[in-house]
Amino acid sequence: MQDGIKAPTDLLIGGAFRPAESGRMLAVEDPATGETLAEVANGSVADAQAAVDAAHAALRGWRAASAYQRSAILRRWYELQIADRDNLARLMTLENGKPLPESQTEVDYASSFVEWFAEEAKRVYGRIIPATRADKRLLVLRQPVGVVAAITPWNFPAAMITRKVAPALAAGCTVVLKPAPETPLTALRLGQLLVEAGAPVGILNVVPTTDAAMFADAWLGDERVRKITFTGSTAVGKELMRKASTHVQKISLELGGQAPYIVFDDADLDLAATAITTAKFRNAGQTCVAANRILVQEGIADAFTERVVDLVERMRVGKGSDEGVQIGPMINERGRQKVLSHVRDAVAQGAGIRIGGGELTGPGYFVAPTVLTNVSPKMLVMREETFGPVIAIARFRDEQEAVDLANDTEFGLAAYFFTKDATRAWRVSEALEYGIVGLNDGAFSTAQAPFGGYKESGLGREGGHEGIDEFLETKFVSWGAVGTGI
Ligand code: NAD
Repeated sequence: MQDGIKAPTDLLIGGAFRPAESGRMLAVEDPATGETLAEVANGSVADAQAAVDAAHAALRGWRAASAYQRSAILRRWYELQIADRDNLARLMTLENGKPLPESQTEVDYASSFVEWFAEEAKRVYGRIIPATRADKRLLVLRQPVGVVAAITPWNFPAAMITRKVAPALAAGCTVVLKPAPETPLTALRLGQLLVEAGAPVGILNVVPTTDAAMFADAWLGDERVRKITFTGSTAVGKELMRKASTHVQKISLELGGQAPYIVFDDADLDLAATAITTAKFRNAGQTCVAANRILVQEGIADAFTERVVDLVERMRVGKGSDEGVQIGPMINERGRQKVLSHVRDAVAQGAGIRIGGGELTGPGYFVAPTVLTNVSPKMLVMREETFGPVIAIARFRDEQEAVDLANDTEFGLAAYFFTKDATRAWRVSEALEYGIVGLNDGAFSTAQAPFGGYKESGLGREGGHEGIDEFLETKFVSWGAVGTGI
């Protein structure tokens, strides 16, 4: 690994790092140069099964530990992540391409889930329900679901892991994790830090692979795995739902989005324009909550567009480790081609390019930040996730039209809107069919609030009190013949 950056390259199974059973390796690429950064052990089905063996063996002890013991391990893991902030951030910038300040922010965000769930571990309450008969007591217990399989994407190489693994461990579950093959180094480093935190052997097993579908078959075909938690595309999420039906495993899904970003004519225009730099350009537009459809009320559309173009003109694109860079590369050539195809489609259907519009020359998978105007609902930029630095601006007449346009999608993850009118703020917040609403806010993600989607954007929530519920079973104990009091 270059520049003294620390990360293991073997699989973490049963508390120890070891090569893949097949001896195969997978290459990790730097998307800013297209060069290979490192070779990592490439897990096979035998490794997937060994990971479940280890997680299952660890389950009995871990779920029997007290909430305070589990909390202490998580707290230590959190502290080690903070101490390793610089290393983890540089690792993420190398394998994902995002600018270094964004990677540092992601380490803070990722570790905040570990801190939050270290505390939530202590607040898994049951309840006592008044019974209809005097000699009965009705108890509700919350218990860990068991072995959890987690599959995570490349766009947040650390945070998508901690917001699953931390609540699972806090609840008393053990975990097998398959990180994205594009960003396995951050995942392995996080696993190593948990081992260093004194975690019992096997509570977290990390197995990168290029055989994702085979892993899903192995894990969902194994009755010992009781839960699958997935972040990624809607197509894969649906496939996992089908596979989970064999053994009726519980399932949580954080899938794609198609976020509308509505600017009403009574909005603070400077705020609405500035907030787009996070809502759209974080991770070069490769986020599930990226503002994808910019809907602006007619009367202020020109003024808003000018402000946005002015901001975009000043944004610096480049290698994430270079000083002052705000926009890094797409994760790979496929990602870049998707973005460019959306721009071409919009232009062919009558959109105008105000700035940007194309791929940038040189190595790496860069796309110029782009502003498109005169955008209409039939265009790909308005129907599919673009997953790139493209701002597509369409106009609307009134509030009803804005809400109708916003809800006209099978997705329902995040929506943004900007207004200074308090009554409109209520009305529109309630009318939007989305799991998350950013009201005058371009950056809402935080560990203490529930994150997740309506409709085809997913099932379940991560973060908040809700985040730990996803890893708990509910047991009802009906206790008879208690007596009727002294
Ligand atoms: P993807 O679905 O291709 O990959 C995500 C993960 O699933 C990776 O680990 C991948 O190796 C694995 N995978 C791929 N095919 C699989 C299969 N057949 N069976 C099992 N696992 C498989 O998604 P992507 O394109 O890499 O990631 C971007 C997607 O993730 C976007 O749609 C984005 O919106 C979504 N996302 C959602 C959230 C959220 O919280 N809702 C957060 C980040 C990303």
